[in-house]
Amino acid sequence: MVLNNVAWAGRLTGPKGEIAWRIIGEVAPQFPATVFTIVGGPVTERFRAAAGHNVHLQDFVSDVDAVYRASDLVIGAGRVAIEAMQLGRPVIAVGENRYIGPIDGTTIALAKATNFGDCDRLHPFDTAAMVRDLGRLASGAITLPVADYPRYLVDYRLDHVYPRVMAVYREALVDAALRPFAEIPVLTYHRVLTERPAGSKFNIYVTVDELEQQILSLKQRGFQFVTFRDIADGVRPKKPVILSFDDGYEDNHRNLLPLLKKHTARAVIYVLGDRTITDNHWDIAQGEPAAALMSDGQLLECQCSGLVEIGAHGMTHRKLTQLDAAVLADEVSASKTALESLIDDEVVSFAYPYGVYARREVAAVQSAGYLFGVGTVNGPVRMADDKMRVRRITMFPGTDRLQFRKKTSGWYLRYCRLKGKDF
Ligand SMILES: [Zn+2]
Repeated sequence: MVLNNVAWAGRLTGPKGEIAWRIIGEVAPQFPATVFTIVGGPVTERFRAAAGHNVHLQDFVSDVDAVYRASDLVIGAGRVAIEAMQLGRPVIAVGENRYIGPIDGTTIALAKATNFGDCDRLHPFDTAAMVRDLGRLASGAITLPVADYPRYLVDYRLDHVYPRVMAVYREALVDAALRPFAEIPVLTYHRVLTERPAGSKFNIYVTVDELEQQILSLKQRGFQFVTFRDIADGVRPKKPVILSFDDGYEDNHRNLLPLLKKHTARAVIYVLGDRTITDNHWDIAQGEPAAALMSDGQLLECQCSGLVEIGAHGMTHRKLTQLDAAVLADEVSASKTALESLIDDEVVSFAYPYGVYARREVAAVQSAGYLFGVGTVNGPVRMADDKMRVRRITMFPGTDRLQFRKKTSGWYLRYCRLKGKDF
């Protein structure tokens, strides 16, 4: 490529000034046919005296874009590099702490990770590397893929940056809401029935009366019913409790929703993303009596009550650890998408089916964009320590008043840990 004009931009003081100084003194003299335009100030007598015939000291200019446009190559870091690339100019990145070199597919990752050389531990600036690279560019030994530059810079576009900034902000709000609590009781329920069912093998139900007594007990003790979504939305509860109901049974609509309304309590219901599944087929296979799941209409009624957070529980209620990577990703992210389009709202929490997960499953839930991954009897006692491994307390039928108070005491998980037992 022809190197008639090369521009460098930055302050002439501090570490940036040192780079300019060395370009003027050590690089420019080796390319006498190239004009080096140095944009930035203050232009002191020292710089003026050092500038050779092919160095133009421009001081601060109002239209730096025009300088970039008029240049065959731009040298700089941070904003200088990014703006020049946006204008489609070839760039050599050098920042306060590192010389990155010509920007192409092999250097862009390092460039972005270091803000084009500004943010890194100090690697002393080797002008010989820059001289070598300029020589290669001038001779055509290397060419720069400026056509790919817009693609490299997608991450810097406002429509990409804004959601990430908001996500970090929300994460910080959630952490602040959770931090004060050594233990937030998150209770796991499944079915809610008016009478004890015949032949239930897994005892995954409570009666309406039991649940009502428990809700009353929590209210009397000053608990505040919240959902994961509430916390994601910035609620800072004083004494939180989370009631969660797995699988999305039809009886939740019939029996739980009226209770929530009666006591203005709130709950999370974890439902399947595959809305064609109408019963608990995974438990029927194990000998559990059949139970209907909520229809879309019933689920929407729960959502519209404003008292229920709809969370995801996978597409089909399979053990995630037994799935290959592609199916796992689908179970986790397709259930989010499907439910979000059904309820026309965001789904922020995911309950691992059977409470079974390992590092890979946690990563899948995180990368699908959930704020909470909810397990059963695993995960840290303190929710703030890992929002992707939320530990819950399983509720069984026949829990008496005292047991219930113990389970929601605020020290139960630590107590169980001390005793070395599951709960
Ligand atoms: Zn389940």
